[in-house]
Amino acid sequence: MYKGTSASAGIGIGTAVIVEEAELVIKRETVADAAAEVERFKGALDQTMKDTEALAADLATRVGEKEAEILQGHLMLLMDPMLTGEIENTISGEGICSEYAIEQVCSMYASVFAAMEDELMQQRATDMNDIKTRMQQVLMGVKSVDIASLPAGSILVAKDLTPSMTAGINPANVAGIVTELGGKTSHSAILARALEIPAVVAVNDFLNQVKNGDQVVLDGAEGVVYVNPDAAVAADYAAKREKFLNEKKELEQYIGKPTITKDGVTVELVANIGKPEDVEKVLQYDGEGVGLFRTEFLFMDRNAMPTEDEQYEAYKTVAEALKGKPVIIRTLDIGGDKEIPYMGLQKDENPFLGYRAIRFCLDRKDDVYRPQLRALLRASAYGNIKIMIPLVTCIDEYREAKALIEEIKAELDEKGIAYNKDIQVGIMVETAAASLIADIFAKEADFFSIGTNDLTQYTMSVDRGNDKISYLYSTFNPAVLRSIKRIIACGREEGIMVGMCGEAASDPMMIPLLLAFGLNEFSMSASAILYSRKLITNYSVEELQAVADKAMSFATTKEVENYMREFVAALK
Ligand code: PEP
Ligand code: MG
Repeated sequence: MYKGTSASAGIGIGTAVIVEEAELVIKRETVADAAAEVERFKGALDQTMKDTEALAADLATRVGEKEAEILQGHLMLLMDPMLTGEIENTISGEGICSEYAIEQVCSMYASVFAAMEDELMQQRATDMNDIKTRMQQVLMGVKSVDIASLPAGSILVAKDLTPSMTAGINPANVAGIVTELGGKTSHSAILARALEIPAVVAVNDFLNQVKNGDQVVLDGAEGVVYVNPDAAVAADYAAKREKFLNEKKELEQYIGKPTITKDGVTVELVANIGKPEDVEKVLQYDGEGVGLFRTEFLFMDRNAMPTEDEQYEAYKTVAEALKGKPVIIRTLDIGGDKEIPYMGLQKDENPFLGYRAIRFCLDRKDDVYRPQLRALLRASAYGNIKIMIPLVTCIDEYREAKALIEEIKAELDEKGIAYNKDIQVGIMVETAAASLIADIFAKEADFFSIGTNDLTQYTMSVDRGNDKISYLYSTFNPAVLRSIKRIIACGREEGIMVGMCGEAASDPMMIPLLLAFGLNEFSMSASAILYSRKLITNYSVEELQAVADKAMSFATTKEVENYMREFVAALK
């Protein structure tokens, strides 16, 4: 058995097909006519761009816009005048062939990216190498491997899959993917998940353990791979595969069904998203709306703030796609673990207790908060947008944000710009302070959404990213549970909607408790929606009261967790 990193869930069983790009031999050849060589390079560049555009268009229709973005990124690189200018200068300055100039310049950039700490930047190294090889292949007349026509039941084995190789995959024929390199968030892992092909990446030295035609079995969720397994292992995984596929199929029956408990309590099952493209999955998995749009993702991975108009377009796209279903958009939540270099934020001594989210936005009204709120208000004319304010600790922050929204509304009125005059403005309840005065907030805020990721961190005084103290980080801790229960009660007392958008909302052990406490809305990653609907429709809120009372009677996290684990297991 070989261990790697799980990249895409599912069991893959099939025959190994080793995919290797033909090794290109790039020599430093001098050229007599450098100007003509620059033209030759430009021709190859042009062709590579055309090929990439075609691949991106194909991917957009077959898989999705979001996945095609990876190749759009390649196009951006190919269009970057810095990069192409440097290649041209190398050709003319050194009088050398295009292939070598490309090798030199692209490899230099790739190694710079590879040395960076940030995983996203490291991914750029793969992108850079990918476009390098494709330009060289065009120049040398070498055809790229054609993955599109692999036989059915293939397990694709490669050192690393470049995004352009992965893009050509036909999921009907590829039963699984195993690579030596890559990580959970590498482009090939993202594509494998989008195509729903089981995949394990980062399996050390795997190419030396496998040859074409070997039988390969892999478990994408566990990150394990077997080569020519014995009959018992093969049978075991065949059964696992059957079970996985049946469960997935079975969940489809919940598409289009209401989310209602056995005793008639209806709740909303909505999705967390980070980019407008994520809406595709929300619709696919029948989300009843968006419970959290983390807008900071619109600000990340770029060199300058998105303009008001860019934001407006993004919010409008989501609102329109959801056709009147609720779309809760959270205003910018940066700082803490989410850094945005161009914002000019100093590193705080204690980032999680520092200058972030609403604190930052209220301090940067003119250049940051106003444009975002204006964009949100303008977009609210196109759907059911609600505004949500993160990390509030005191009512003054809510009032100040609300006042700013009223000011902007008046400006829009004056200019005759349309917006939803009754737009709801709610808060994330995710700090200990907000929880303790939830009764006060409930009288002014239009809705609550409990952010358990932070609420747990701030209640337990435990950094949510620190492994050494992660044993303290549990939503099942009695202190956190009491906090959640009370927030819901305070909201319901004032008749406002109370939702939850932290990870706990989709935790099968937590769902019965949340139903018993009276939570109205559960927001989670789109892929968790159907399973959660299945769980919720099998419960009766009334019957769960005794379960919740028992869970609340324990003094320790362990006791609560054990009790809930047994309760959930007994239902299976
Ligand atoms: C939370 O804190 O629970 C939450 C949903 O927000 P984030 O994870 O973005 O901080
Ligand atoms: Mg949070």
